[in-house]
Amino acid sequence: MEVEFLGGGEEVGRLGIFVKSNGIPLLFDYGLTPGEPPEYPKQSPPVDSVFLSHAHLDHSGMIPWLSTRYDVPVLSTVVTQEVSKILYRDTLKIAGASGYPFPYGEIDVNRAIENFSAVKPHQTVEVNGIEVECHPSGHIPGSLMFEMKNEETLFACDINTIDTRLLTGAKAVKCRNLFLEGTYSGHEHPERKQLERDFIAKIDEIVDRGGKAIIPAFAVGRSQEMAMILADSGYEVWIDGMSSKVTEILLEYPEYIRSEKDLRRAIESLNVVYSSRGRALAMKGDVIITTSGMMNGGPVLGYVDKLCNDGKSAIILTGYQVEGTNGRRLLETGEIKMYGITKKINCEIEFFDFSAHAGHSQLVEFARKCSPENVVIFHSEDREPLAEEIKDFANVYTPKNGEKFEI
Ligand SMILES: [Zn+2]
Ligand SMILES: [Zn+2]
Repeated sequence: MEVEFLGGGEEVGRLGIFVKSNGIPLLFDYGLTPGEPPEYPKQSPPVDSVFLSHAHLDHSGMIPWLSTRYDVPVLSTVVTQEVSKILYRDTLKIAGASGYPFPYGEIDVNRAIENFSAVKPHQTVEVNGIEVECHPSGHIPGSLMFEMKNEETLFACDINTIDTRLLTGAKAVKCRNLFLEGTYSGHEHPERKQLERDFIAKIDEIVDRGGKAIIPAFAVGRSQEMAMILADSGYEVWIDGMSSKVTEILLEYPEYIRSEKDLRRAIESLNVVYSSRGRALAMKGDVIITTSGMMNGGPVLGYVDKLCNDGKSAIILTGYQVEGTNGRRLLETGEIKMYGITKKINCEIEFFDFSAHAGHSQLVEFARKCSPENVVIFHSEDREPLAEEIKDFANVYTPKNGEKFEI
């Protein structure tokens, strides 16, 4: 099988894995890196089908571009498709507002949506004689790993192996070649239950001193998980942005989450912002969960604008912050770029490692259980620590973007 990373080999973002097996060209994910300006993968050659692991833009964001050019089926779960529709429309809005040229528009988004073809976890589909089995990946609702049967190859593009409040962790799949994301290569996560306790203690501290906690959160998964953690806190919690639309989708397809009952209860315990009046009310509450998770747009910027000089309030980041995003800038410099100007943030800045990705040891354990001959590590800013450990039991590949190789 021939392989080329069109992007996303040596970075977290703009992933595209081009594969040619028995002369059949396929693509696994095709995303972009949101940022100012956004970054794109190399142009994909024509392919027969594209397998989309999940809705995050670094995996899905370039599928509209692909769809108009090659008119190919896009295989993913119904949840990924429903969420992608919302994300694409939002991406076009953000792109329009940012002023940077963008590689596609409304027509391309509609074409992508027409080409969506739904698959289910544990289903095996056939594309030009190649069988592909879908496995849940535990990363966000609707996310999948793809197992190409003829090549005994597993594509684990963003996985989480632990159970969270929202999802059940991914299980290993025996394979010969394992394509493994390495976001947290060299980095361990804190124990989840303890992390939740520390998180609530931090919110107690902020509210006690008269401040508000702004929680920028990804619309898919993280917002719902935060809502579930805060459901019994007794605080006035507001949720704003795309998250409520996404929650409605998740409740429509409850087979993709761990407990419909718990999610429903959590959502009913908090207040939803529907309008600017809702935003004014939210400012009087205690906690605001809002998009976007990396602070590159969305209502979070409005809240931060109002609270950035309030030393009693805090911004609590809860997920991976890609290089070049406002969230990363905030953690590294205490500043963000807002509406074209750099702004110093004078409230407390906190980071809680609620990851949707497996940590270092969890990745190693997952790889070991798959008992592969070869492991290709990608989707990482530093693949070395993971490569070093996996070398003990498999051949390790760390290809660069644009480097063609056989496996
Ligand atoms: Zn992801
Ligand atoms: Zn990713």
